[in-house]
Amino acid sequence: MGSKIAVIGGGPAGMTAAIRAAKAGAFVTLYEGNDRVGKKILSTGNGRCNFSNERMGAQYYHGSGKALAKQILECFGTDWTIAFFEAIGMRIKSREGYLYPASDQASCVLDLLRYELDRQRITVHTGKRIAEVRPQNGKFFLTPDKTAYDAVILACGGCAAPETGSDGNGFTLAEQLGHLIVTPVPALCALRCKETFFKQVAGVRCDAKVTLFVEEEETASERGELQLTDYGLSGIPVFQISRHAARALQEKKRVTARVSFLPDFDRETCRDYFRKRLAERPEDEMAVFLTGIVNKKITHLLLKLAGIRENERAKAVEAVAFERLCRLYLGIETQITDTNGFDRAQVCAGGVDCSEVAEDMMSKKIPGLYFAGEILDVDGICGGYNLQWAFASGAAAGEAAALSKSVGIRKEGGGRRS
Ligand SMILES: Cc1cc2nc3c(=O)[nH]c(=O)nc-3n(C[C@H](O)[C@H](O)[C@H](O)COP(=O)(O)OP(=O)(O)OC[C@H]3O[C@@H](n4cnc5c(N)ncnc54)[C@H](O)[C@@H]3O)c2cc1C
Repeated sequence: MGSKIAVIGGGPAGMTAAIRAAKAGAFVTLYEGNDRVGKKILSTGNGRCNFSNERMGAQYYHGSGKALAKQILECFGTDWTIAFFEAIGMRIKSREGYLYPASDQASCVLDLLRYELDRQRITVHTGKRIAEVRPQNGKFFLTPDKTAYDAVILACGGCAAPETGSDGNGFTLAEQLGHLIVTPVPALCALRCKETFFKQVAGVRCDAKVTLFVEEEETASERGELQLTDYGLSGIPVFQISRHAARALQEKKRVTARVSFLPDFDRETCRDYFRKRLAERPEDEMAVFLTGIVNKKITHLLLKLAGIRENERAKAVEAVAFERLCRLYLGIETQITDTNGFDRAQVCAGGVDCSEVAEDMMSKKIPGLYFAGEILDVDGICGGYNLQWAFASGAAAGEAAALSKSVGIRKEGGGRRS
């Protein structure tokens, strides 16, 4: 007879774990705190659900689970995810390697997962938030439920977008079971800056390179469409580096960023460019002289920062001022004071410390206890990597839980570390 498994959390990780475990012969019950499963999926990829990526590998992931992610993705990589979704009825399309449902509807991904839960005869309890998991005499007992389970899969998510149900309570459950939690910080989010000049350029979107420095040391760099806001920096390149800023700020380190508005230029090519332009139009007033290089609002800001008047003739600008302007185009410096909060972050960096989780996603402390998805200290970059991790780790945990006959044994431990 198959083992009885409880999956806690009906997000992409929990649903995949449940489906995989049921397919492997287990009797599965899925508990979801919300009144329906998969709420967060609906807001992914701007409602289109970028569920995976053709470029896959551990290099796109961070956290103590980077090595674990590498192993899991070797078995449950992009090809596995494509096959899984095709098998449950989804047509898939690729936009330059970024994978989406052909319908462009996240709701279609969720529907197909829900139908498969039914097809696999998985018992789904919605509106049932689990407050405690108690291992006792080789079984697991859940509060507020009386059923005994052979194995439990914790797939409660992290604490990003808490309005979707993942509010960090899964970390408390894991802590109660003796697991260490790497302090959660927001990731894939905007960065807040000290300087007030951002108000002048709010709303601008432009191609830029953003380089992050922690205690003056270059830590990450990304190029792409930058979005300037009244409080600082946003857009995909900023999201990609945000987890490094968040972690460093949580550790009370000084974080700065350099934003280059001419990412194809270096100091020399930039100087040459302005020299040539000056030779061609020396009589132009500076506001006119600089028109057409980058967004106007940025030009106005850079002129101000360089201390050059907009109506000054180009030929009259001193060489040192030109040099200052050149430097500013290549990189304004800004101090990062904070990130946006969990309510405006796409994922959470941190979570269950993966040094305490085995390759089959089972707890090294409590046999029969498994983890899947964002509850673990694994965070991917933008581009379908976090959903891929949810599906892959869910499948691995579901399969391992169904195939093992482990017993729950309590061990000491639990707590937080950064
Ligand atoms: C706006 C937004 C856009 C995103 N876009 C993308 C994208 O395009 N591509 C991508 O790869 N990633 C994207 N992500 C990230 C991705 O959605 C998450 O990484 C992924 O959903 C994590 O899956 P999960 O199953 O681990 O957790 P979650 O999706 O957070 O699901 C956890 C579930 O567990 C339930 N739960 C929690 N505690 C309990 C409990 N005690 N008892 C019962 N149930 C409980 C919650 O209600 C929730 O339904 C996006 C995230 C956001 C917020």
